[in-house]
Amino acid sequence: MSSPSPHHQILLLGGTAEARKIAEALAARDDVSAVLSLAGVLSQPPKLALPLRIGGFGGIAGLVQYIQDHGITTVIDATHPYAAQMSAHAVAACDQTGARRLTLWRSPWQSEARDDWTEFDDWPSLIAAIPAGARVFLAAGQDGMSALPPHSDFTVIARALARPNDLPAMVTLIKALPGKTPQEEADLFARHGISHLICKNSGGESSRAKLRAARDLNMPVLMIKRPPPPPPPCYETPELLLAAL
Ligand code: NAP
Repeated sequence: MSSPSPHHQILLLGGTAEARKIAEALAARDDVSAVLSLAGVLSQPPKLALPLRIGGFGGIAGLVQYIQDHGITTVIDATHPYAAQMSAHAVAACDQTGARRLTLWRSPWQSEARDDWTEFDDWPSLIAAIPAGARVFLAAGQDGMSALPPHSDFTVIARALARPNDLPAMVTLIKALPGKTPQEEADLFARHGISHLICKNSGGESSRAKLRAARDLNMPVLMIKRPPPPPPPCYETPELLLAAL
């Protein structure tokens, strides 16, 4: 008996834990054919059951071309909420080609009574607000590290999965995943004498423990504001998105 022909040709834009979850679910379905696309930030991409393509498409025009060349019927945008450019390109390319788009959009974290969070529109204004003598823990990805000045009157300990090419010499890099518990994060902050936390408002559970630790330690948190959500349809979880598919 011949296998059923796929109903959906899916391009999955990844780079998040949710995208990996969606990839596993798609790989298990026989009514879809899907490819996972990664920007190529990590030197070792995760091993997943879907075919992988790596690297930018070349702007909106390149993505339109890719969609047309590969007969893509559906684009799933499961990029990080701060990957605003890729998400905007997905919106524009789907509008131009008529491909269906489903976007994963985690809600931002909400501050609670004992939190001391300040939000900034951009990196220069956030960096200008760091007091002299501060020992900051930077958990904000590559763009946070790239935004740092070459010299400063504060100390930076940054956590990331990969070492960026343009890491300023004054940064101490910890290559690690986020700690799983507030206690683990609090211990790390104590070991490095951290006075301030800098991060994004990424939402979700996988990197939330650092904010709980900051709350417990009455530590000020400086955050870069979230980009606005893409136009609907947006789904909070992989499960909701897959159900809509
Ligand atoms: P971005 O600023 O929105 O995108 C910059 C460019 O990178 C895009 O225009 C596109 O290049 C390329 N790109 C981004 N995601 C891609 C993907 N999944 N497949 C192919 N090309 C992609 O993105 P970013 O903030 O640099 O993030 C890069 C990747 O890291 C994303 O996959 C994102 O999900 C992940 N990530 C980002 C953050 C964050 O805080 N920004 C955190 C965790 C994970 P072209 O224009 O050439 O197509």
